[in-house]
Amino acid sequence: MDFSRLVEFYERLESTTKRLEMREILVELFREADPEEAGLISYMTLGTLHPPYIGIELGMAEKLALRAVRMVTDVDEDRLDREVKAKGDIGTAVETLLAEKKSGQTTLLGGRLTVQNVYAILERITKVTGEGAVDVKVKLLAGILAHASPKEARYILRLVTGKMRLGVADQSILDALSVLYGVEKSVIERAYNITSDIGLVVKVAKSAGIEGLSSIRMAVGRAVKPMLAERLSDSREILEKLGGRGLAEYKYDGERMQIHKDGERILIFSRRQENITSQYPDVQGSCRERIICKSCILECEAVAVDRETGQMLPFQELMHRRRKYDVEKAAKHYPVGLFFFDALMIDGEELIDRSLSYRRKKLSEVLEQNEHFTLTRALEVTDPDTLENFLLHAIEDGCEGLIVKDLSEKSIYRAGARGWLWIKYKRSYVSKLVDTLDLTVIGAFYGTGKRAGRYGTLLMAAYDQATDTFKSICKVGTGFKDEDLERITEMLKPYVVPKRPPRVDSEMEPDVWIQPSFVLEIIGDEITLSPIHTAARGLLQRNAGLAIRFPRFTGKYRLDKSPEDSTTVEEVVEMYRSQLKRVEEGRGEAT
Ligand code: ATP
Repeated sequence: MDFSRLVEFYERLESTTKRLEMREILVELFREADPEEAGLISYMTLGTLHPPYIGIELGMAEKLALRAVRMVTDVDEDRLDREVKAKGDIGTAVETLLAEKKSGQTTLLGGRLTVQNVYAILERITKVTGEGAVDVKVKLLAGILAHASPKEARYILRLVTGKMRLGVADQSILDALSVLYGVEKSVIERAYNITSDIGLVVKVAKSAGIEGLSSIRMAVGRAVKPMLAERLSDSREILEKLGGRGLAEYKYDGERMQIHKDGERILIFSRRQENITSQYPDVQGSCRERIICKSCILECEAVAVDRETGQMLPFQELMHRRRKYDVEKAAKHYPVGLFFFDALMIDGEELIDRSLSYRRKKLSEVLEQNEHFTLTRALEVTDPDTLENFLLHAIEDGCEGLIVKDLSEKSIYRAGARGWLWIKYKRSYVSKLVDTLDLTVIGAFYGTGKRAGRYGTLLMAAYDQATDTFKSICKVGTGFKDEDLERITEMLKPYVVPKRPPRVDSEMEPDVWIQPSFVLEIIGDEITLSPIHTAARGLLQRNAGLAIRFPRFTGKYRLDKSPEDSTTVEEVVEMYRSQLKRVEEGRGEAT
């Protein structure tokens, strides 16, 4: 496919905020592309070149990209800078200037770019390393720009700087595939959830159809999307949901890790499928030593532990491990314990369709355990009193609460799904809203006074799974230290967009809209009905949604969560209901 043809689709995608229309455009696009191209297009449309676990990101500095622009056209440097500032987008700025040039004298070569050659060059750009790498990258970029039309240049520049911002998410692509092939989305989702590779799924669907997709298997080295838990606040209800019996496990407060072992090679993937292996040399070491099988995919929670006492430390301590440099030193200063809770594959045997008891038995067989390299503490429970008592133990031991898991034969590992096979049970529910919410930033308001020049308040959203949208739930301006605001303003810069992103649902208009990208942990005093916010609008009361009263930033940046992992509207409704119930029962502090 010519790149110019892809650009026509991109322009159409950009000109609509209607999700159905976007889906139709994607259907048309994938129908037209051949299998190989369709795979590459699916990455590019999401603004990347690979699945997340490969760990190679686009994101050339704008300054360098502009250097490449100046190599192929004689636009004035100041003018270029001004235009980029004015437009707030390198893509349209360069397009405008190139279009002016082209209508006068043609300095560019012109010629046909194909999807494949644009992809190949972008990939080379990400891979160049070593001395002189920067110059080589700039030259490679100049090389394609020399053949690009102004419109093509718009998207090439956005892609290479990591700011594609088409408003298309992986789920939008899966939706389009299900329409294209006339099948239930779940068939396609399965393949995606066990591979986390949108390009692979699209390519296989195009080349081998739906049967091809069902033959896709899990593989060591390819991150699997995590199974997630629902939450309930009542021990009786939990047991009822699970048919009277469950395995209550400590819910450790750390970072989820998916460990892939292939002989001596250990890979570690985060909750959102990023490759975090290099941050944890100590974990690699202990896994090499203490996992006794040839190959496997296991899951555990890594928790910071006190060097002296060996006791578990709060989640925040793990933040010291999020670094690129001095990892060895950090590993010594901030050691972690690993608490294993699942096995997805061992020595080629796929386990995700087996029961929890079977998986846990297999898991125990391959772990050489010690105090800090062990199975999660667990207890089989059949009555509410025992469950409540075990919760108190978990809390006393430094955990967040429990995850109570289904023990029946149907207790498979449901990759990428939040369901009732696992139920979170936390202490938070015994008082007012002391539980935190993980919310996505969708907009920002400029600060005033001491906060001038930075964002002072953020508009936050919960994720609505049913409609795949982000619904506003509060404006938060407290709890931020000066350095937080500095950092957040910088972090958000690349995600500022000129109009409301298509997947955002908010009636409140912030000073700037933000493409959903960052999740922050927020705590509040209570959840209230709100005439302004759109979360759960109309679900509990006509014309009212839910909002968080007196929200505060807790200081936790949930960089381990993608926007789709935010607290869901459904969860907020559940939290609101249990809050009401407590007040009714006279247990809440409100009465
Ligand atoms: P939270 O924000 O409360 O950590 P979450 O949205 O990340 O939750 P949930 O599905 O709500 O994910 O809870 C499961 C998470 O709890 C897992 O992602 C994992 O990181 C953590 N966890 C800790 N202990 C366990 C355990 N024993 N079994 C499963 N998950 C556990």
